[in-house]
Amino acid sequence: MQDQVSSSQINIEAEVNLRPYNTFGLPATAHRLVRIREPLDVRRVVDHPDLGRAPKFVLGGGSNLVLTKDIEAVVLKMEIGGIRLLEEREDAFIVEAGAGVVWHDLVQWTVEQGYAGLENLALIPGTVGAAPVQNIGAYGIELKDRLESVEVVDLVTGRSALLPASVLRFGYRDSVFKHRDFGGLADKSVITRVRFHCPKPWVPVLGYLDLERKMNETGISTPSARQIFDWVVAIRRAKLPDPAVIGNAGSFFKNPVVTEEQCRDIIGRDPHIVHYPMPDGTIKLAAGWMIDACGWKGKTVGGAAVYEKQALVLVNKGEARGAEVVTLARAIQESVYGRFGIRLEPEPVVL
Ligand SMILES: Cc1cc2nc3c(=O)[nH]c(=O)nc-3n(C[C@H](O)[C@H](O)[C@H](O)COP(=O)(O)OP(=O)(O)OC[C@H]3O[C@@H](n4cnc5c(N)ncnc54)[C@H](O)[C@@H]3O)c2cc1C
Repeated sequence: MQDQVSSSQINIEAEVNLRPYNTFGLPATAHRLVRIREPLDVRRVVDHPDLGRAPKFVLGGGSNLVLTKDIEAVVLKMEIGGIRLLEEREDAFIVEAGAGVVWHDLVQWTVEQGYAGLENLALIPGTVGAAPVQNIGAYGIELKDRLESVEVVDLVTGRSALLPASVLRFGYRDSVFKHRDFGGLADKSVITRVRFHCPKPWVPVLGYLDLERKMNETGISTPSARQIFDWVVAIRRAKLPDPAVIGNAGSFFKNPVVTEEQCRDIIGRDPHIVHYPMPDGTIKLAAGWMIDACGWKGKTVGGAAVYEKQALVLVNKGEARGAEVVTLARAIQESVYGRFGIRLEPEPVVL
């Protein structure tokens, strides 16, 4: 038997200004917005006579979004809170967090509690619920390395399910939540809670140049999780623009992954190209280096600009509109394609 829920319990906000809700600071309006404070709220929306059949858009912290227009779909703004230790197993601490929890707050909480494993992912903006969507990653760790399962609610039936990590088809900045075909869950499900395993025993992940530098600088060769957390926070603060100061969505393009043969061809065009061999034999190219090599640092289109300190990041110099960001991104794609024969793929979701 299904629980009784009443759709009259939800509050529909009209004509909501989304500028404060996206880290790029782009102008757009949500015609209808509902705050999801518990998983049952999704059922309430699905059962609602006006909202039930309408298209939905799930909004987390808006840190991976480029808004080019007002949103016609009903915006479900994820605000489910709560962090708890669910279980202590022999091999791991299992931690559960609500989709609306700020990602960095979760990482900080786990480090403070002594549940190590998420520290390399400190200071990534956004919410816990969005983290599995693009399989966030930084400093040698991807979310998939620590994900146990996700609780989702179906946007048609309102039923909830617990999906293990093994069915989420994780890839580089990719998961089942980014695809519509072949059983993809984009626009079909909303993530309401996420469970993580913080491994026992914990082994630090240090094979990353910036972290090695910190080890050399400090002389600490066996850092604690707290130490790595502090280092990652310091490195990120020095490298990336703070969205509270200058609007941006982090890395604007994915680093392209190519075959060895393709890489040889590109090295023929420019022997200095920055590239990293991957364990599966493919090669990851540094998109930021290619953009910089094409002379884009500091270039602008209207209020949109390529960040002066890091060519992979596009920023809002003030009054940028989404269309200007998209025009700038397309121009960068064209010039990188012209010089290296590589089509850069944007990382943020463009609406
Ligand atoms: C300065 C900066 C640095 C960044 N650094 C990194 C980095 O190092 N590594 C990295 O991987 N990313 C990075 N990002 C990108 C971004 O932080 C992540 O993609 C983050 O997970 C987005 O979270 P969000 O809550 O803001 O999602 P949003 O931008 O709100 O949404 C992104 C997508 O996820 C969907 N979504 C959101 N919540 C849910 C949910 N609960 N259920 C289903 N779908 C949902 C949305 O519909 C949308 O399609 C960075 C961004 C910025 C601004």
